[in-house]
Amino acid sequence: MSEPPGHACGVFGVYAPGQSVAHLAYLGLFALQHRGQESAGIAVSDGETITVVKDMGLVTQVFDERRLAPLQGHLAIGHNRYSTTGSSSWRNAQPVYRSVGDAGFALGHNGNLTNVLELSDALGMLPGMLEPELGLDSTTDSALVAELIAHEYPPEPRSDGRDLELALERVLPRLRGGFSFVLLDDARLIGVRDEHGFWPLVLGRIEAGWVLASESAALDIVGAHYVRDVEPGEMVVIDASGIRSHHYAPPTPKLCLFEFVYFSRPDTNLYGKSVHLARQRMGEELARQAPVAADMVMPIPESGIPAAQGFARASGIPYGDGLVKNRYVGRTFIEPTHQLRGAGVRLKLNPLPENIRGKRLIVVDDSIVRGTTTRQVVAMLREAGAAEVHFRVSSPPYRWPCFYGMDTGRRSELLAADLSVGEIRDYLGVDSLAYLDLDRLVAATGADGEAFCTACLTGDYLVPVPEADTKLALESPPEPIAELDGFAPTSAET
Ligand code: SF4
Repeated sequence: MSEPPGHACGVFGVYAPGQSVAHLAYLGLFALQHRGQESAGIAVSDGETITVVKDMGLVTQVFDERRLAPLQGHLAIGHNRYSTTGSSSWRNAQPVYRSVGDAGFALGHNGNLTNVLELSDALGMLPGMLEPELGLDSTTDSALVAELIAHEYPPEPRSDGRDLELALERVLPRLRGGFSFVLLDDARLIGVRDEHGFWPLVLGRIEAGWVLASESAALDIVGAHYVRDVEPGEMVVIDASGIRSHHYAPPTPKLCLFEFVYFSRPDTNLYGKSVHLARQRMGEELARQAPVAADMVMPIPESGIPAAQGFARASGIPYGDGLVKNRYVGRTFIEPTHQLRGAGVRLKLNPLPENIRGKRLIVVDDSIVRGTTTRQVVAMLREAGAAEVHFRVSSPPYRWPCFYGMDTGRRSELLAADLSVGEIRDYLGVDSLAYLDLDRLVAATGADGEAFCTACLTGDYLVPVPEADTKLALESPPEPIAELDGFAPTSAET
């Protein structure tokens, strides 16, 4: 995806007495940086006091030794944020802290709730608003969850210290949408997934304790080994007595399919399958589904690399590099406007004319969301002398917004929302265009086809989305895309 949408967040938790848990959380967040780049935070408990440090920026910008060293304790949670609800500001950074019970609790959230209005009504709030005047310091759905949990704390702390656990048991069944939570109080680390498991959360073991992480790749960096996924509808609680599990809802797994396509690191495993190998198989399937005569298969770096490798292997057409990615430029999607996103393309990707000139190219990427960057890349390849450009996408057209935790913007911003493949082909200026069929994509994952959310591809929303958002996002007429000037639809598809 040369212009990826924002992701919801990455979460990490560690219970390891005697270890420097803040440093372990820092490493875990570093491994999960791709899931959110707006803010980073760590909460640590020493058994009596919870300390939270969070700020805007990348993990390495927020934390240095001066900030990590004072964070002493035996359990910690960490969070990388990309905003899906609430603005991008310090007060919306996580973990969220609430001062209730003995020491309070902290929460980190990956995902997006769909019944915020109902939940805020239950708390007596103004519809859809989390008001600072009502005692909250944040506008996120995560802050709302924290407030609901705080409301369920008993007036007096329980002698067994299970206040947070029992408050969660009352709150979790009321939540709808996508959520993977990590939480801590003074003595316990807790991990939770929504009943559909939209977003991953894994459990790992280190010598001194336990680790929770959004992706299995984040276990490796702290020397943990994978134990199992936290199951959809499950809450795991880790403390001095060990680990215990509670299912608050029957699991109906619907992992986000885009975790396989784009979000997760290639060295992560999902449903026990290698993400990297799955992406290569997607390219192989694409070559079988939409073959074309060409001289070279090339990726949009880096998102299209594994699928391009698979395409080349299955087609027998040589694999080559046609674009160089500048490693030191940040991801363009953090730029706030179409115009700035466009400006970032030239900084980020540069063509290799010697590899391109006079060649018929098959260009592979994992998805197209807005299309602005893709169109500029195609123009660069033509300027560099490409004889033909055949674009192949290793996922189906992205037509519907995500309400469960991935920031795609409005439906009108999605290139494929109302255009046919032939119209998109003409807009991009390519000689042919093909998207991988959904059934081939699912087959390439190697996982059970029923176990995925595909709402942004099919419009079939498993969990109902808020009516107000539905009206806004699904029924409003699409806004014209500025770059469509001179665009002339044709009836031919590829
Ligand atoms: S709608 Fe799309 S991006 Fe959102 S969870 Fe479902 S598959 Fe993932």
